[in-house]
Amino acid sequence: MAHLRFEALSKLSERTKVQVELPSTKISEFFGEDAFGMKQMLGSLAPAVFKKVSEAIKNHQKIDAETADAVASAAKSWAMGKGATHFTHWFQPLTGGTAEKHDSFFDPISGIEKFKGSELVQQEPDASSFPSGGIRSTFEARGYTAWDPTSSMFIYGKTLCIPTVFVSYTGETLDTKSPLLKALKAVDNAATKVCQFFDKDINTVVASLGCEQEYFVVDRDLYMARPDLVMTGRTVFGHSPARGQQLDDHYFGAIPTRVYKFMKDFEIECWKLGIPLRTRHNEVAPSQFEVAPLFEEVNAANDHNQMLMDVMNRVSERHNLQVLFHEKPFAGLNGSGKHNNWSLITNTGVNLFAPASSAKDNLLFLTFFVTAIKAVHEYSDLLRASIATAGNDFRLGANEAPPAIMSVFIGTQMNAVLDELEKKGNVKIQKGDNMYMKLGIDQIPEIILDATDRNRTSPFAFTGNKFEFRAVGSSDNSATPMTALNLIMADQLVDFHAAVTKEIEKGTEKRLAIVNVLRKYIKESKAIRFEGDGYSEEWVKEAEKRGLSNIKNMPRAIEAYLSKKSIDLFERHNIFNKIEVEARNEIKLEAYIKKVQIEGRIIGDLAINHIVPTAISYQNKLIINANGLKGLGIDNSGVIATIKEISSHIDSIKENVNKMTEARKKANKIEEMDKRALAYCDDIKEKYFDKIRDSVDKLELLVDDEDWPLVKYRELLFLR
Ligand code: ADP
Ligand code: MG
Repeated sequence: MAHLRFEALSKLSERTKVQVELPSTKISEFFGEDAFGMKQMLGSLAPAVFKKVSEAIKNHQKIDAETADAVASAAKSWAMGKGATHFTHWFQPLTGGTAEKHDSFFDPISGIEKFKGSELVQQEPDASSFPSGGIRSTFEARGYTAWDPTSSMFIYGKTLCIPTVFVSYTGETLDTKSPLLKALKAVDNAATKVCQFFDKDINTVVASLGCEQEYFVVDRDLYMARPDLVMTGRTVFGHSPARGQQLDDHYFGAIPTRVYKFMKDFEIECWKLGIPLRTRHNEVAPSQFEVAPLFEEVNAANDHNQMLMDVMNRVSERHNLQVLFHEKPFAGLNGSGKHNNWSLITNTGVNLFAPASSAKDNLLFLTFFVTAIKAVHEYSDLLRASIATAGNDFRLGANEAPPAIMSVFIGTQMNAVLDELEKKGNVKIQKGDNMYMKLGIDQIPEIILDATDRNRTSPFAFTGNKFEFRAVGSSDNSATPMTALNLIMADQLVDFHAAVTKEIEKGTEKRLAIVNVLRKYIKESKAIRFEGDGYSEEWVKEAEKRGLSNIKNMPRAIEAYLSKKSIDLFERHNIFNKIEVEARNEIKLEAYIKKVQIEGRIIGDLAINHIVPTAISYQNKLIINANGLKGLGIDNSGVIATIKEISSHIDSIKENVNKMTEARKKANKIEEMDKRALAYCDDIKEKYFDKIRDSVDKLELLVDDEDWPLVKYRELLFLR
């Protein structure tokens, strides 16, 4: 296989740069030209119809048949005007990624192009091939997709894509979008009710999301010469390069030209689709980069992130590059995350996580700030579960990645404010007193967004006017963590509202009632606040003392979904019933098992069929050399030592691959999905992956570079 590596390497010198031109010097002239959202509807629908659509969207209501027909007709004209011939319902199944089934506008019976409102609103893809965790027996293996009017339609290629939810005929949700929409509605309702304590003009609260997407880029031919990358998205072997990220020079360095062209190209595609991309830069590891959009309403932002990943995948091919979204493509280097920047914004334009200049407004800020911390404390295990994936297991707690322990970082200033409030809460407040001053919260400085005060090691950090959920993995669909986060916030806000109302009914003045509940929350959630180094060993010990969980792997982490507390929470807010939660966990575990299984097979195959034969043939060369030296009477003990060393690695690889195969056979016999997943985790992945890798990586250092079959880390990471 070594020839594959050298063929790929030789192609690098022939690479020509793909030229990328902006369609116009002004992005505003083409931004969103391939999207059909509110703006385009306003322009193409009769005013009365538009009013109906926008009200239905705002109030989360169904759209009637007549209105749907009008929208379909307008969307069809618009799409055909842009050369589209097909339409598809675009949805996000539980397998991850997105799915679509294309239908032609052309109707062979009437001989003309048609698109009915009913086709816009609902479609019936064959659901039997999508995972449902046994919800549907095969004879009723049918589900439907339903239009989500809150997210813009868009044209991709020659197809009009319609964002939809995916539901089974018996009503269970089969995707990641439907629970998200429900959680967003729950947080809107709960937050609005709490806001009404402060301002009666607030009637809607929208959750917003800005995803910072990290990724690696490697040359496509080098990628193709690594079967492990192609099959699993990560390298299962590979010795660290002599120069890794120790120098920290990549972060601020210039973006390599080929990658820069690729970025420009996918940015243009994204801008056309109305994805508000804003920043691009290098990341910590070599060949690692980040792209971030301007934040949007959560549902739209998440759809856009899914589209972005898809666009990046397709565009990277044009540049002979391959984008890697895996959380840990390279051992020993920084992993990739998808930081979920999150806040709540009112219809009056107030960001509820932004400190204000007046004391009165700051009580509103503190209410949401403290309630968010309390929610994370209350449901930290659920939040941990929401980011659990096979890929993220390699990242959490490793190089430059937040630990698996959930904690909240709020910065020195906000810590001081909360401590003060907790301490001073008991003061007696008389009429005419400046309550805010007496409580020590009369002045909360509008936090200066100071980069030095940012703790990169926290999985959940307050960054001045938003929370940043950093534990989310780079390949994940943010709908899952965003469902959890908005839901626990909604629940805590309901609790807050009830507690304050109770105090008020006892005769406590409203503001004081609010402060009393906040003080209680501050005390109860103290354990979750952590300002120190989240990467340190001390924190692991300290967290244990505080009673915080440190759940290291996915099969164990997602158990939190099944606790009575979680199921009650889901049912209380109509997100999932117990059957749906159980089914979803089954699907996740099955996917986990398959992933580990594939990795195990690839490790075995590469090790036995590529690495061991290479090592043996190199060893044979050494044996000839050793004999030659001996014949000449020259000391050959050095060569003999190397031969022995190679032998011991070969033996170790063979032994461990055999044992791993046996462990897989044993695991496959386990009936219960959760126990089988644990066996795959503990008895296969944890026990053998690193052991086998260790020997292979040692051999990489011993064997002649000319013979080595796998593209090396330094080649993947530094050659472009
Ligand atoms: P960094 O965290 O790298 O310093 P920024 O603070 O500029 O970068 O923002 C990162 C992401 O957070 C961007 O996508 C940005 O739009 C988003 N963001 C900024 N403010 C908010 C907010 N109020 N709600 C949600 N996301 C936000
Ligand atoms: Mg950030």
